[in-house]
Amino acid sequence: MRKSTASPAKRINFKPSVAKVIRERVDGKCSVPRCKNAIRGPAAKGTGSINLGVASHIYSAALGGPRGQGGMDNAFIASAENGLWCCQIHGSAIDKNAGEGYPPEQLFAWKALAEARASKLITDTPSPLGWVDAIQLLRFPHATTLPRLELSRCTLVAGVTASGQTSLLDLAGAVTQSAYAQRFIQREPSTSRVPFVEGRLTYATVDALDRSVDVQVLGDDIHRILEGKPCLLPPGDIQVIYTTLNDLQARPHEDDVAFLLRLLGVDRSALKAIANAIDLRLAPGPLRFRDGVEEDDHGVSHPRRTPSGERYVEAFCEIRTDELPAEVTLNGLSTSQQRGVILALLIAKAQQISQERLTLLIVEDLIVNFDSSKFMQLLAVLGEMPFQVLVAVPPARHNELLEECAGVATLKPNPDLSSWRLRWLGAPIQDSSPSVRRSGVQGSRAPIAKLL
Ligand SMILES: [Zn+2]
Repeated sequence: MRKSTASPAKRINFKPSVAKVIRERVDGKCSVPRCKNAIRGPAAKGTGSINLGVASHIYSAALGGPRGQGGMDNAFIASAENGLWCCQIHGSAIDKNAGEGYPPEQLFAWKALAEARASKLITDTPSPLGWVDAIQLLRFPHATTLPRLELSRCTLVAGVTASGQTSLLDLAGAVTQSAYAQRFIQREPSTSRVPFVEGRLTYATVDALDRSVDVQVLGDDIHRILEGKPCLLPPGDIQVIYTTLNDLQARPHEDDVAFLLRLLGVDRSALKAIANAIDLRLAPGPLRFRDGVEEDDHGVSHPRRTPSGERYVEAFCEIRTDELPAEVTLNGLSTSQQRGVILALLIAKAQQISQERLTLLIVEDLIVNFDSSKFMQLLAVLGEMPFQVLVAVPPARHNELLEECAGVATLKPNPDLSSWRLRWLGAPIQDSSPSVRRSGVQGSRAPIAKLL
């Protein structure tokens, strides 16, 4: 921006060509967050159209106008950079009372948000309530690289062994549930002010662009920092839904309902409602609940009880075969079927939450034993969802889905993957220290080609 040498009295209007640019850069929609006022439509008579939008000046067209000119020169005042496309109501509101309540910084932020949203709609449809831009590691012990994962609407992530993928996902999960950062905490409280491990999630919402939440592990404590300030609770405008193998271990006192309540983080009535809404492309049949019954050594039936003596409530699937429907308890299903049910529940929950706030579903451990058709079925289901998804490609699927093209890992051409973008984490984050690496999935990754 340039400082003014302008004469004070003159009003500097936008040329029609500039107003057009201002309008088109936001797809003709009002740039005020959450405004859904109609702007364009057919004229009352004839074949013409009407436009109810206005190109409003952020810094004013006249020196004494709302918000003044901030010392900007004529060329800036007349430029598209200084214009905010609004519906007529907001165009009028932001100029009332000398622009009181609508400072230039806020209007520039709204302009940036509206343009970013329009850009996202062209390249990568965002969810209605915003989008997660990236997850990155800011600090990691002995790290030689700090990976940053940029997210699309539907992202597949894969990478070399120890690329930090699981650490990134765990820290993202900790934005909503700090237990996922538990594995990084140290035994002793720290006297240092420098976090041991730190991750950042940047996102945009209906109201703001470039928001960020950091998860910091400091000694035996986990902190969340929202927009540079410590926050007591998980941020309210975003929810990250994530599940690890550790979550899938049933605790001894749990019946099926308690297990699912813990896994989903919901109450009983929500569990029932969610169970009724699961996608049957992922589960072997509808999910129901009943009091468990077991037989004693004499063949006499008794109510099944938990170790603490409570009634054991079983979850079961109604599986329809060619003959009669069969009822199979959650524990009686194969591992792959069980995880299909759990994913279907998580997806149904995410669908509900995504109506209220920005939602990111991260899928990693749950799909390691899916076969090819089940994996592709999952991607098809997720591709239709109204929330953002991040799926880690299991190592066993690398050869099938990925290829190396001019030194870069890409998705093999496949119409079923058209809505998915691949992000490849190409360098190990640390050369030697295995101190905070989770055993299991990550350690078993094998390269499939020179690069992959
Ligand atoms: Zn408006």
